[in-house]
Amino acid sequence: MQFLSDSLARVKPSPSIAITTLAGELRAAGRDVIGLSAGEPDFDTPDNIKEAAIRAIQAGKTKYTAPDGIAELKQAVCDKFARDNGLEYTPAQVSVGTGGKQILYNALMATLNPGDEVVIPAPYWVSYPDMVRLAGGTPVCVESSLDTGFKITADQLEAAITPNTKWFIFNSPSNPTGAGYHPNELKALTDVLLRHPHVWVMTDDMYEHLVFDDFTFCTPAQIEPKLYDRTLTCNGVSKAYAMTGWRIGYAAGPKPLIDAMRKIQSQSTSNPCTISQWAAVEALNGTQDYILPNTAVFRRRRDLVISMLSQIEGVACPVPDGAFYVYPSIAGLIGRTSAGGVAITDDEAFAKALLEEADVAVVHGAAYGLSPNFRISYAAADETLTEACRRIQVFCAALR
Ligand code: PLP
Repeated sequence: MQFLSDSLARVKPSPSIAITTLAGELRAAGRDVIGLSAGEPDFDTPDNIKEAAIRAIQAGKTKYTAPDGIAELKQAVCDKFARDNGLEYTPAQVSVGTGGKQILYNALMATLNPGDEVVIPAPYWVSYPDMVRLAGGTPVCVESSLDTGFKITADQLEAAITPNTKWFIFNSPSNPTGAGYHPNELKALTDVLLRHPHVWVMTDDMYEHLVFDDFTFCTPAQIEPKLYDRTLTCNGVSKAYAMTGWRIGYAAGPKPLIDAMRKIQSQSTSNPCTISQWAAVEALNGTQDYILPNTAVFRRRRDLVISMLSQIEGVACPVPDGAFYVYPSIAGLIGRTSAGGVAITDDEAFAKALLEEADVAVVHGAAYGLSPNFRISYAAADETLTEACRRIQVFCAALR
């Protein structure tokens, strides 16, 4: 009898975590590696949030809570959706989990049966297809392109939907491209969904607050209220409040789905960390004053990275609307050979040679379902980014 489960064979470990780990090992071995692979803000968690956590500990709020969150946080989530998105939910329609990741996973586990399909625009956040497979479903990936700014079209969505489609996963601004759908572009997609009443929408709004220039964030249930009864609106505190390690994500949607998600969570992890929940109450209810200055820092770094990468012949780098990633195409470099003799046959070979020969860690595009590209996370100091881009320029200039 085999020991490991069949479901494990359906998934692969997160490539961004694998590359971040490898970069750490090389650094420990004395190499001057610059890691641009981790998807987390380099800012510290704001003091008012830390203080709320300390107060919670001192007040003895250190015990189990309801499996899917304390009433105060559920209310704060309802207030956030009303304030930011014009969406009305009651606390009974809210689920709080251990990060946005657990929320998405719970929803898929609670709903997917073998044969169920989930439409996922590519490039995608690495975990979506694997979570779908773990939950027994089938990912149906729809490739966008550089020409459409890494966004899928209404026709592509229409063509991907079958009688077996259960969910459409939507993520704007996107990890890994930073591309954001404008209200009219999202409306074109929601119009398609209106024609297919059996398809539900799982929208991952994790980067809602990290948007630049004149980009206006929008979410499906807000753009098309008729989808409210089949939309799960997911979000979390990890990125906007620099709280990746606190592990709090949340979602709101139809009560039967929220009840089903609670059942999964109650038999797996139980409640997310009690102290983190109190910190998240402060994150959502407290001052939002640091979000704009943080976003301005990210925008400056985006412009720095874009301007340096755009100088490289063979690299095309669209300007992202949000998040803290760029996803340059290296189509113009495929077929060349690095100074160290590595044939750049695809983006994985590129990323490996870049790490080996230039000490810069990035994630190859194949991990996100669209090649040939690579992802840079620019959540790093300006000097670090400047040096990393200089190394990438030198590496690419040496390709023959
Ligand atoms: N969704 C997207 C698009 C992400 O990029 C991430 C983290 O990288 C998550 C969800 C997971 O967030 P959390 O750390 O809250 O689990």
